Amino acid sequence: MDLETKALLLSRGTVQLSQPGREGKMSTAGPGAGESSIFFQSGSRMVRLSVVDSTAIQLEMDGDEATISLEGRVIARGRVVEPLLHCPDQAYITISERCIYDCKFCAVPRLMGKVKSHERVMEMAKEAMATGRLESISLTSGTEVSPQHEAERVAALVRDLLPFGLPIGVSVNPFPGVNRILLDAGADEVKYNLETVDRDIFAQVCPGLSYQEIMDALEEAVELFGPNHVFSNVIIGLGESDQSLRQGIDELIDMGVLPILRAAYPHPLRRGEVDIVRPSADRMLGLARYLRMELDEKGLDGSLALTGCYRCTGCDLAPGRDL
Ligand code: SF4
Repeated sequence: MDLETKALLLSRGTVQLSQPGREGKMSTAGPGAGESSIFFQSGSRMVRLSVVDSTAIQLEMDGDEATISLEGRVIARGRVVEPLLHCPDQAYITISERCIYDCKFCAVPRLMGKVKSHERVMEMAKEAMATGRLESISLTSGTEVSPQHEAERVAALVRDLLPFGLPIGVSVNPFPGVNRILLDAGADEVKYNLETVDRDIFAQVCPGLSYQEIMDALEEAVELFGPNHVFSNVIIGLGESDQSLRQGIDELIDMGVLPILRAAYPHPLRRGEVDIVRPSADRMLGLARYLRMELDEKGLDGSLALTGCYRCTGCDLAPGRDL
């Protein structure tokens, strides 16, 4: 699968299976939380697509091989990869599948899912370890009670997961002091999501969150965890201009943060609440190339990430891996 084909597939975001039943379990995180998805690997590239009943992209299985077609024309050949926990090779576990905040593009506050107990998360991680495929652990969480409460809960898990001897990444809603709690617990990497680099759009789509507080936490995180180990999701398709995206990318990279450029996903549970235009393949390619160029210029390298989306690469054009 070449870079352009991956961009095309990401711009569509969905796939129809010619043999239903091969889709993975419902996801509790990522763009299609609450929906089924499939991971398709072709050469060194992998893409995650949401499985739907009807769309122009079709996936056909023939033994271990899989082909992806667009309107009857084969565009990629590869195989379907089974996720371990949420994604291949990682235990990517969502602790609280609910959230007190109400970001307008996010399905989690609508899903009002479970809150996994400490014991359940440890059990899941042990099962993943027993497969022999586990390479890293990523803990993510909505905010059930408060950001402080969530960080303490995740920190306790990090401490108990240290004996696994694997890299551990954490993504929670930040607050002053969060980095010290996670670093002292033993986390290797953190992700605090800015979601959009356009401050006006941020105020509309993330009511109750503070743009500045997230930026402050990211800046401090680079001092404590080091460059190449701090990440922030930036959604493309919420109405922001490419100019504001380039400025925002530069600002994050100047701080030593690796931005994750994520195509906006119009989740059915959020229909009508936010204007989303899924980015075209060309837009994603242009922005990913810009990101790669700026990272190179500042001496940052996505391939050094130990956990999370820069390692998985399913949902994005990942610099250092895809381009
Ligand atoms: S890229 Fe990130 S959000 Fe997407 S499947 Fe992989 S780990 Fe999940």
